[in-house]
Amino acid sequence: MPQKSPFQIDIPATDVLSYVFPEGTRPSDQPIWIDADNTSNSLSPAQLLQWVKRLGVGLDRLGIGQDEAVMMYSSNHIFIPVAYLGIAGSGRIFTGCNPAYGVNETKFQLENTGARLVFVEPKFLDIVLQAADKAKFPRDRIYLFDDKPLQAQNGVKDWRSMLGSEQESKGWQWRRMSAKDSKTRTAALNYSSGTTGLPKGVQISHQNVIANVEQSIYMRNLEQPAGESVAERWLGFLPLYHAYGQLWSITAAAITRTPVYYMRAFNYIEWLSHIQNHRITHIQTAPPILVMLAKRPETQKYDLSSLINVLCGAAPLSKELQNEVSEKCNLKVVQTWGMTEVTCSCLHVPGHRDDRSGSVGFIDPNSEMKLIDEEGKEVGPGERGEIHVRGPNVCIGYWRNEKATKETFDDEGFLRTGDVAVRDENGWFWIVDRKKELIKVKGFQVAPAELEAVLLEHPDVADAAVVAMQGEHEELPRAYVVLKDESKGKVSEKDIQQWTAKQVAKHKQLTGGVKLIDEVPKSPSGKIQRKVMRDMAKRDADEL
Ligand code: AMP
Repeated sequence: MPQKSPFQIDIPATDVLSYVFPEGTRPSDQPIWIDADNTSNSLSPAQLLQWVKRLGVGLDRLGIGQDEAVMMYSSNHIFIPVAYLGIAGSGRIFTGCNPAYGVNETKFQLENTGARLVFVEPKFLDIVLQAADKAKFPRDRIYLFDDKPLQAQNGVKDWRSMLGSEQESKGWQWRRMSAKDSKTRTAALNYSSGTTGLPKGVQISHQNVIANVEQSIYMRNLEQPAGESVAERWLGFLPLYHAYGQLWSITAAAITRTPVYYMRAFNYIEWLSHIQNHRITHIQTAPPILVMLAKRPETQKYDLSSLINVLCGAAPLSKELQNEVSEKCNLKVVQTWGMTEVTCSCLHVPGHRDDRSGSVGFIDPNSEMKLIDEEGKEVGPGERGEIHVRGPNVCIGYWRNEKATKETFDDEGFLRTGDVAVRDENGWFWIVDRKKELIKVKGFQVAPAELEAVLLEHPDVADAAVVAMQGEHEELPRAYVVLKDESKGKVSEKDIQQWTAKQVAKHKQLTGGVKLIDEVPKSPSGKIQRKVMRDMAKRDADEL
């Protein structure tokens, strides 16, 4: 029997914009989205709504259809929430590209989403133009996008030039979605490789976004001692092309009216000083930041006494590291588990618990889970099994990829996650393994299939398999490569490692090294035997 959450909550059945701006309410004038480097640069919900409406007019005028995608290629700044809510709220689809992407990765997402329009931060224009040219994407559908007015560059104009005027925006109203449409229409396409293969566009519905914000806030506020509430301040450094950043720094911030201080890019020293200067109370983050908090000497030089709570997800976190940070920084670290396909999260430790066990908590409201063993049988407390989950935050499926969608859901409509967990009698979960191919580097996804495809483009490579090698606190992508006969002895492991570094974003580099082998172990059907490769990487890690 699947395990159900003990909690049931009401989830507004509407679109994201109506959720953030409910009918009959006046949007607040208090700044919510604030530039951490220059706090006079900020947006309140009332200001944001003005820009959203002007964007809505502009998208209509350009003829961008309903359910068509608009791609954002940018680091974080306070106008990204305008784009996110304006694009999704006006019935289009927001898709964020990782600004670390190179030309080929960007071209892939541009083509895969079928985006009709691209917004790009000026410093990345060159990459986007190259990707657009390769994809035969019209340049006049690209606009510069930043938090201040810009001069045109290379014939590419500022997005402010496509907006409606303030006057026009007064007459513009988004179409409020029915309950049915909010479940079936896509608000965001976030990329994930899921349990296997190349990155795919995960269709996050309006209902998914709203449900996951409500679930996450509910779990966070659970067990709050009576009378204890603080004026919270968050730091917006999680990238906004990823669900984790979108959920907290855009939507949850709007709903809870919490000021978020936006950082364009992550830098540990600046991050510490922002916590100190803006008296940040809550952080949503991933394990690599906890490693820095625990190990870097600079941590001691800053006053972090305002920090109360750190929410940590996106990759495995040992209880030793969790507890080290709790003690050194005198705060609560609560874990969460999730994945792009569940919008963001669906297991949480209640926000006010002082949990020291390394658990990722229990099931979010309105959701169900079962743990399935290798034989396909559901297991009970204390036994390992793959998490299968069903709930209002579970995605619609993969964009234009029926095959992958079908394979990802089981007969009862539960999503197969590829993560292995154990739960106890009280419904608390611990993540114990990952059986899918995915590698996580600094909380970011690295899909082995993507790196293998890149390696096969190398003129000397006959075959390749990529797996994670476990470092001290992180996973390191490692490639096993078979050279073509005529290339043997002429190309080194280092050559291949360096060549790959030029083809892919930084987090996908082969930091676990390259090893030349005679043959990639494969099943009779030609599939790479991932488990054999993983064991090989483990042996190599022990030897190194
Ligand atoms: P993403 O889709 O980028 O959010 O990555 C999701 C994957 O990150 C999950 O399927 C897990 O493999 C991993 N992950 C997320 N949260 C945790 C966690 N708390 N502990 C262990 N692994 C996690």
